[in-house]
Amino acid sequence: MKKIIISNLKMNKNFKEFDSYLQTLKSEVKNFQNEIVLCPSSIYLDKLFSEKLKFSIGIQDIDHRNQGAATGSISATQVKNICEYAIVGHSERREVFKEHNQMIKEKISRCWENEITPILCIGESLKIREKGIEEIKKHLFSQLEETLNFNDNFQDIIIAYEPIWAIGTGLSATNNQILEVLEIISEKLSLISNTKNIPVLYGGSVNLDNFKDLQKISNLSGFLIGSASLDPNSLSKIINDF
Ligand code: PEP
Repeated sequence: MKKIIISNLKMNKNFKEFDSYLQTLKSEVKNFQNEIVLCPSSIYLDKLFSEKLKFSIGIQDIDHRNQGAATGSISATQVKNICEYAIVGHSERREVFKEHNQMIKEKISRCWENEITPILCIGESLKIREKGIEEIKKHLFSQLEETLNFNDNFQDIIIAYEPIWAIGTGLSATNNQILEVLEIISEKLSLISNTKNIPVLYGGSVNLDNFKDLQKISNLSGFLIGSASLDPNSLSKIINDF
């Protein structure tokens, strides 16, 4: 199975910076066999699409409805011909915008209706991590059950395990911590879906210094990268060496 690298640029880069970001990626990324997904701000999706690069395009979030009175939102119906992927359930959306599992479940359905593969982010807070593995399991199980269980018409999906305490902190989870959680996730996924080989990625302070070591984790399908993907030289090196 192809490995996957997703870059989440979040609310970064002005027009000029994004332009130069793309130029650097174009010149620095050499050969890659993997699936590379760029998720820039939505204002750049059309530009990225028209560049016709070999990278796939993802949107950083999607509305839970297909159209209507939703000021500032973007629907899956609007980007279905541009984006192959959509991040849903990112911890920043859950925390800042108070998005809950039921809404995230609806976002997943909107993705599937519009032939977009959802990248479902799940992960525990530091408080839960400190309570031990049984609490972590309970939390991840409920995030998966409440967004995927009985979600009719189960289709392609990518799961990104992103412990909240590791996002943007420079403190990545260890290989053993990730391995332990991968087992928990696959146990639940096998109960929820008959679909085999659902890719599970890790996200949380992946960078040039640690990605080689994290790559050793068996059954891990790739990475979701935030901060380190802002520097196109770092991202290119990770892509080239992955
Ligand atoms: C993220 O925001 O999804 C993320 C993984 O960020 P970072 O790589 O900066 O931890």
